[in-house]
Amino acid sequence: MPKILKMSGNITFTMLKPDAVEANNIGPILAMINKAGFKIKAMKYLRLSREQAGMFYEVHKERPFYGELTQYMSSGPIVAAILEKNNAVSDFRKLIGATDPSKAEEGTIRKMFAKSIAANAVHGSDSDENASIESSFFFSKLEQF
Ligand code: UDP
Ligand code: MG
Repeated sequence: MPKILKMSGNITFTMLKPDAVEANNIGPILAMINKAGFKIKAMKYLRLSREQAGMFYEVHKERPFYGELTQYMSSGPIVAAILEKNNAVSDFRKLIGATDPSKAEEGTIRKMFAKSIAANAVHGSDSDENASIESSFFFSKLEQF
């Protein structure tokens, strides 16, 4: 199978959210990600504008938490990254745990580091298609290795 097709199931996109950055948890979270077997294909440290956060979370526009979410996600710098591993999307969702940290399993990143359902430390793509869309929102082809 050509590499370009095979790769589609092997990447996910993540953000270390403002609460994780503020609490100096970039290092510990990246260590867990690497230990779980994910390779970093792309990475940047940046702050989203409110408008950019709104574009990223466009799918949630009608949800009641959209305003709070976009305000929160633009409140401070984040780390954005593309991660590579077999079954990247579902393995990464397992590693981060449930959206609400009070429901996340022991040993997951959100259980260990999240502050609340909104400030929940990390983002993880929910499908291969969204992993690809979200990756190209942040990174050009030249920025992916
Ligand atoms: N979120 C929130 N309140 C909610 C549900 C979600 O503030 O009741 C935020 C939270 O930061 C979450 C993001 O919106 O990570 C996107 O929600 P989604 O349901 O996609 O959760 P995820 O895929 O991040 O687990
Ligand atoms: Mg989601």
